[in-house]
Amino acid sequence: MANRDFYEVLGVAKDASPEEIKKAYRKLAVKFHPDKNPGDAAAEEKFKELGQAYEVLSDADKRAAYDRYGHAAFTGGGGFGGGGGGGFHDPMDLFSQVFGGAFGGGFEEFFGGGRRQRSGKQRGSDLRYDLEISLEEAAKGVEKELEIEHHAACGTCNATGSKSGGGARTCSTCGGRGVVARQAGIFIQQTTCPECRGTGETIADPCPDCRGEGRVTKASRIKIRIPAGVEDGTRLRSSGNGDAGVRGGGAGDLYVFLHVKAHDVFEREGSDLYCKVPLRFTTAALGGELEVPTLDGKASIKIPAGTQGGTLFRLRERGMTTLSSGRKGDLHVEVQVEVPTRLSAEQQEKLREFAESIGEHNSPMQESFFEKARKFFGS
Ligand SMILES: [Zn+2]
Ligand SMILES: [Zn+2]
Repeated sequence: MANRDFYEVLGVAKDASPEEIKKAYRKLAVKFHPDKNPGDAAAEEKFKELGQAYEVLSDADKRAAYDRYGHAAFTGGGGFGGGGGGGFHDPMDLFSQVFGGAFGGGFEEFFGGGRRQRSGKQRGSDLRYDLEISLEEAAKGVEKELEIEHHAACGTCNATGSKSGGGARTCSTCGGRGVVARQAGIFIQQTTCPECRGTGETIADPCPDCRGEGRVTKASRIKIRIPAGVEDGTRLRSSGNGDAGVRGGGAGDLYVFLHVKAHDVFEREGSDLYCKVPLRFTTAALGGELEVPTLDGKASIKIPAGTQGGTLFRLRERGMTTLSSGRKGDLHVEVQVEVPTRLSAEQQEKLREFAESIGEHNSPMQESFFEKARKFFGS
């Protein structure tokens, strides 16, 4: 249990009015609500702590006990009730109580989360689908059809959950609140209503196909359009293609996480592409044409005579599209000068002749290298 002072947690004075306490809780609970801070454990902890502080300070009796005994009033063997237990509410329930009254239920307008609504409708869950695509597909954009298993609206009952279409009644166990209260020590503990499973409604004549849920599990084929320029890790949202809600509640969304496969030839850096292409040493020396791959097929680049290995050639706008601007990056080709192996005796003879004729000079890289080396050794 958190031991921070509850007044401090809510940032209010010891003599704060109930209205001030409610206001402070409302402001902070919205800020640290898990739906607004997904995956943030610190925020979640904070949200829980806020719930505990509010639960105590919003109740005159509990607040009085807290003022007299501090946290000890609410720990197992403390000055109250004795019987251990106690424990705090689900902070979500508390949150829904505070906001339910003020905003007429429905958190969707706030958070779009899957929280309980008064009508018995519940928004469906968001779903995640991981999709691997090729670099070519990422470059040009592509349409994909995904097969997903999800909850879809039941066609038999038109998503009402009722065979006759009109069988929904306010749950008599919880009076439509979706939660039931039970005494535990000095606390009233709230739990999800077992009768209506939190929806606040029961169905008198449940639909046989969906057993009153208004949705069924089924496989659906969903088309998504992947725009040109997506990257590894790009997330696309397919609105309304997640799980259908309970009894006609809004559907969740489908999130498609893209994974772009590594390419055999091209390496991507932002919107630019890089590739290494072998170049014959004779072409490097004499100059000529070199065929290079691009995402749109082959292209040809001019190799000037005396091209060194490692030289980069740029092909403008033959790279990837930039997702945000639609501009195209470049393709950079690095030539790798290739030395032949398995020379015939005659070829070796010719090369020796050539080596003799060229002598020790006309090796621009060597010359500049030895120039540097001489400086380095100071000779
Ligand atoms: Zn049905
Ligand atoms: Zn109920």
